Amino acid sequence: MSTSSPYDNLPDAHGFFGEFGGQFVPPEMKQVMDEISVAYQEIRQRKDFQEELAYLLADYVGRPSPIFYARRLSEKLGGARIYLKREDLNHTGAHKINHCLGEALLAKFMNKTKVIAETGAGQHGVALATACALVGIPCEIHMGTVDIAKEHPNVTKMKILGATLIPVTRGTATLKDAVDSAFDEYLKDPHNFIYAIGSVVGPHPFPGMVRDFQSVVGREAREQFLERYSKLPNYIAACVGGGSNAMGIFTAFLNDESVKLIGVEPAGEGLDTKRHAATMTLGKPGQIHGMACYVLEDDEGNPLPVHSIASGLDYPGSGPQHSYLKDLGRVEYASADDTECLDAFMMLSRVEGIIPALESAHAVAWAIREAPKLSQEQSILVNLSGRGDKDADYVAEKLGLN
Ligand SMILES: *Cc1c(COP(=O)(O)O)cnc(C)c1O
Repeated sequence: MSTSSPYDNLPDAHGFFGEFGGQFVPPEMKQVMDEISVAYQEIRQRKDFQEELAYLLADYVGRPSPIFYARRLSEKLGGARIYLKREDLNHTGAHKINHCLGEALLAKFMNKTKVIAETGAGQHGVALATACALVGIPCEIHMGTVDIAKEHPNVTKMKILGATLIPVTRGTATLKDAVDSAFDEYLKDPHNFIYAIGSVVGPHPFPGMVRDFQSVVGREAREQFLERYSKLPNYIAACVGGGSNAMGIFTAFLNDESVKLIGVEPAGEGLDTKRHAATMTLGKPGQIHGMACYVLEDDEGNPLPVHSIASGLDYPGSGPQHSYLKDLGRVEYASADDTECLDAFMMLSRVEGIIPALESAHAVAWAIREAPKLSQEQSILVNLSGRGDKDADYVAEKLGLN
């Protein structure tokens, strides 16, 4: 293996992945971000922190999550073997608990008085409220009213867990607006508050830090796959909203050139409509929420309204490391539309008895589309980022199953 891999030791000291990332924030905010960065660099070296995080990931989250061979699905499709990395089995039902525990422990270490965050589908909110309850820190979650209506069970859970919920009505009342609202609150007292970003996005150090916390997924998957099958998968597919579950599973495989990495974006109602959130596929380099990355924006540089059937994927930006990996050609970005996502949701439920999150169903949809084109010797590992309990009622109504 080359010692000068373009994929290692990123971001650089200024938080850049090539030309992407950085800290495009006011000077006061830059100082606060630098404090978080210094604290993170300190904490991550400490044995007590590493041991506590490892203990919680094992006995609280339930890691390692298994890899499951989806035999019936693979045989039905008649091509590549499809495997699932079961992040849906984690406590709270998705991959997000992995980085929320890290962020809550960091907040505790920095003596912060309040943890603030946005949430889309409510998954980050629930995971963060859970981690804050466990660690013992007040938690405030900002959420668009459109998402609140759609994801009611998660809203109830956040309240039960003791979080303060702030409904956001501005703009399209979805994820991007919740980010803006949470950021405004954070700016009121950034020295005592901490903003726990829900993905590999935002100013440095968040993209690298959240990736580090999530990279346990890929480390486990690589070891599990090698141990059981004595080889690596040919393809790894993960859905991409901000990009944390994808970076989580991709990171351990970046230097394995034989493994093709596929990020699956939401094509919504179609790439030829204005109703999608396919940032890597159709966006261009720009800036959003304090970072440089691919962005879906208008000619004046304002973020475009985006749409996906999966609330957790409708974001007009994407992690800077994804932007970097796209330009290097290391990760290929594909997409699946709302209809394919629903079909995949139902197929996985009925053929394997696993109800996936609508977000994760995008990666499953890609596997369903591509597997028949490949031989049975080939394998696709899908990161099943979360479970679909939160989406069950919505899908049942949409498909007239009630
Ligand atoms: C939030 C969420 C996503 C999207 O976030 P990424 O940062 O792109 O991973 C994907 N799947 C599930 C289940 C989620 O809750």
